[in-house]
Amino acid sequence: MPQPDVMEKLVSLCKRRGFIFQSSEIYGGTGSVWDYGPLGVELKKNLKERWWNSMVRSRDDIEGLDAAILMHPRVWEASGHVGGFVDPLVDCRNCKKRFRADDSKIKGTPGTPDAQCPACGMKGTLSEARQFNLMFKTFMGPLEDSAAVVYLRPETAQGIYVNFLNVQQSTRQKVPFGIAQIGKAFRNEITPGNFIFRTREFEQMEMQFFVEPDSAPKWFEYWKAQRMEWHRALGLSENRLEFHEHTKEELAHYARGAFDVQFDFGGTLGFQEIEGVHNRGDFDLTQHQQFSGKKLEYFDQPANKRYLPHVIETSVGADRTTLAALVNAYREETVEGESEGRTVLGLHPSLAPIKVAVFPLMKKEGMPEMAQKIAADLRKDFRVDYDDGGAIGRRYRRQDEVGTPFCITVDVDSVAAGGPGDVTIRTRDDLSQVRVPVAQLKAAISDLLSRDETRATIEALSETWRRV
Ligand code: ATP
Repeated sequence: MPQPDVMEKLVSLCKRRGFIFQSSEIYGGTGSVWDYGPLGVELKKNLKERWWNSMVRSRDDIEGLDAAILMHPRVWEASGHVGGFVDPLVDCRNCKKRFRADDSKIKGTPGTPDAQCPACGMKGTLSEARQFNLMFKTFMGPLEDSAAVVYLRPETAQGIYVNFLNVQQSTRQKVPFGIAQIGKAFRNEITPGNFIFRTREFEQMEMQFFVEPDSAPKWFEYWKAQRMEWHRALGLSENRLEFHEHTKEELAHYARGAFDVQFDFGGTLGFQEIEGVHNRGDFDLTQHQQFSGKKLEYFDQPANKRYLPHVIETSVGADRTTLAALVNAYREETVEGESEGRTVLGLHPSLAPIKVAVFPLMKKEGMPEMAQKIAADLRKDFRVDYDDGGAIGRRYRRQDEVGTPFCITVDVDSVAAGGPGDVTIRTRDDLSQVRVPVAQLKAAISDLLSRDETRATIEALSETWRRV
């Protein structure tokens, strides 16, 4: 089981090593907004790239899109967000704290004398629940009046629905087909928190798959299976992943079925949604057709019929899944024969921000020069770090802590007889080492990184090259 304090340790590691910083930290920080540092931006980019590759690049039935954040305000009336994207909120008149009315820590019914504030403990100070809209508002143009109100999108999906026919007609796709996009979304969450789990600005990776109505149940099952498999392939442990089927109470009125992919974050969070897979029927297209007055029907030529396709939606948070990958990867280990243990981010190699680190064993006899040359050469294909500072053990530990799957060390033998001879590749996960001729280094690293395995291993390589 994950240790309860993993989140705290991760927050500190992420700051110290440049994964994630609090937004506007020097001003005291902005509530629940985070900045991705040099390593974090690589990690999240790698995650998004895996999603894009699996959804768009490797298929011929899904097209990509990058719609704008600001949309016509009527979009949010049609989608139901203006009227219904609300959380019930209660205020404490004593300590001025705010809570969601359904917060399990509230004892009694808010608004009655018995209800007790979970923060200050006072009785009878909680207001009645009132509806709070989670959309951020701003103004388009110079006039700050109600006619100029626009919203920061609270989800990326609507950009896909309103472009359904644009994409279908410009690409000549036939139903069934999908549209995918990655982009920022904004929600004025009442209870943000748990690091990047629930923030007010975040990124979504959404795909809407448009299908012939009768085939929707079949496609729903297909996408459920695909999406769970995607999370597994990311290296998230099998026993930390599960489906949660929405109960009747949880299900939106138009939805025909909804499953969340949940991940076990450990500690107080436990299993939580990282992705939603929904069978939305024709709700969205019907709404937009009605509100815009534009027909959004698809013409099925062979069948000579027009209809509104049904939609299977897959919606996953890039930040929340990044957090899942970090929680899943974090481990502390003792190392045989060493007094100091090590902290490891056992990230899937494809997610690791740095793929290879190159070290000269010593700062003499041509070792730094050779190591620099190797690093420069590998940099044409991979994100590479060069490090010549401190004891070699320390340098390994620094890379383990940020999840670098492979380290290359140039030693005395590598430069002997004028070099370049063999160098050592050491793996993050099982600490195994193999000697590889410099000329074959790039092929060896490519081979290792191309294996779709969580635990990078050099077992197969060591058949080709000498194991040490
Ligand atoms: P929750 O119940 O946790 O608020 P939701 O059901 O409102 O989530 P969806 O609207 O289905 O979430 O959004 C799809 C995905 O977007 C979620 O599974 C999650 O990964 C991500 N997401 C939603 N809200 C946030 C947020 N405030 N911060 C970070 N990620 C979020």
